Amino acid sequence: MTDPLELLWVCLETDAPRLTVADLGHWPPGVVQQLIALKLLERTDNSTQVVCPNCDRGHVEEVMPRRGRDGTVRFFIRCPEALKVEIPETLLYQWTIGFESLVQWLAEALTLKGRPAVIVPDRLWRLGKTLWQGVNREVILIRGLAWPDVRDITRHIGPHGRPIVLVADRVPMTNVWPGKPPAVVVISHLVTVDDHGLQVDAADLAARVNEADQYVAKFMAAPATEVEQKLAIRRQVKAERKSELEDDVLVAAYLEFGSIRAAADGLTNRGDRKVTKDKVYGAVKRAGGIHAVARTEDSMSVHRSVASQHRDSGKKIVK
Ligand SMILES: [Zn+2]
Repeated sequence: MTDPLELLWVCLETDAPRLTVADLGHWPPGVVQQLIALKLLERTDNSTQVVCPNCDRGHVEEVMPRRGRDGTVRFFIRCPEALKVEIPETLLYQWTIGFESLVQWLAEALTLKGRPAVIVPDRLWRLGKTLWQGVNREVILIRGLAWPDVRDITRHIGPHGRPIVLVADRVPMTNVWPGKPPAVVVISHLVTVDDHGLQVDAADLAARVNEADQYVAKFMAAPATEVEQKLAIRRQVKAERKSELEDDVLVAAYLEFGSIRAAADGLTNRGDRKVTKDKVYGAVKRAGGIHAVARTEDSMSVHRSVASQHRDSGKKIVK
């Protein structure tokens, strides 16, 4: 992948983050080891479905556990090319994101003062404070700023716009905040991975906070008229619909071509733009992962399913 962590940030914005063995297979093994060592990835419940490893059809099957006489459990699936295929349990492993570890790691990497604290479980954390041009500012991590309950979450940051808010991969609209918008910084821009491990660029954070502050200052100096606000909301909704449509095309191609790589190649050959594997992969992940996408294939309701899984779909925009 061009950015091995992209999938992690996409996952951070899903309701119950799950990364499968196949997901981890997209990252260089060193990156996976680092994420596990830092407890940013933690083992969770086993998957109950798996892509058949026996043939190249890429079909997804429900796993049937069978307990033997000696008490050990073995796992099987059906495959058209063999009656029953045994699945090693390791193929069913899944990981979730260790929120507390992520918060701790970010706080240390950004050398923040004070102890991190959970404000809203699984949604909002106080990472610590940073001295900013002579003033202490709270650094906060929020998940799910595009979800319908966003206002219940954001009210915890107060109306003064002083905090620096870290978000996974998308800046929310200014109207999700309870007052003056805070400086919002996207983590996926800050964190990189190389041979030495995960890195946070603190200088880059400073530049991005500056930029965000300037944006907020401009916004506050010239509050948009009602008409302008409506136009801005309409533009945002349009942009979100466009990215939903784009996701639908990518997911449909994945189902048509049968694999991430084939879908990327197929779309690239079909059109005049280069479609990367990461792009297809991100769309499939946002649609609930390959298992959910494969499940919808039979009912031919891919489009609806994908749209309904967008918790940030246009109609849920907060006004
Ligand atoms: Zn098979």
